[in-house]
Amino acid sequence: GDGEEITAEMVPDLARQSFPMCMRSLEDTLRGSKHLKHEGRQQYNLFLKGIGLSVEEAIVFWRKAFKLITDDAFNKNYKYNIRHGYGLEGSRKNYSPKSCQQIITGATPGPGQAHGCPFRHYSEANLTSSLLTTYGLSGSDTKDIVSAVKSSHYHLACTRLFEIQHAKLGVAKGEGLGKGDSVDHPNRYFDRSRALYKE
Ligand code: SF4
Repeated sequence: GDGEEITAEMVPDLARQSFPMCMRSLEDTLRGSKHLKHEGRQQYNLFLKGIGLSVEEAIVFWRKAFKLITDDAFNKNYKYNIRHGYGLEGSRKNYSPKSCQQIITGATPGPGQAHGCPFRHYSEANLTSSLLTTYGLSGSDTKDIVSAVKSSHYHLACTRLFEIQHAKLGVAKGEGLGKGDSVDHPNRYFDRSRALYKE
């Protein structure tokens, strides 16, 4: 983050406006299943830390989202890992949010798992329907993105989605994150989006 104070309750709106598809997918899965599996929690927790969610707000966020379990179960099974991601438990390592490279080359999500990069890990059918319905893209924009994915240009596909999502804020095709830069980190995607909303 760049200093903006982020609270747990701001996350759903920010997800719609400014999260890259990988993190939006984790947010949507969390809302739908009221749970996320380990790799997804890890990927999302570090991203949320990176956008400026404090550890206190992170605990509020996850506690509220995991609607199907008791406080006891939450404290016992999940709180430690959230705090661990913030470097407050165990080896107290200050983990960095994962880069695109780490997410794209990391463990392939199995059934019921929502971590990873949608451009790399979704089937073509899932990616297409998600771009058309969740993002409301036109058929031709969807086709452009899917064709970038087919040539394994995941960063370019993500960058194109960024441009389309921010076209209403004046971002043109080819401009990417500014000066033609393509997406290399989910938190960079977020930071650039927030900067555009504030301009
Ligand atoms: Fe996320 Fe990076 Fe994939 Fe975009 S290219 S969806 S930011 S992992």
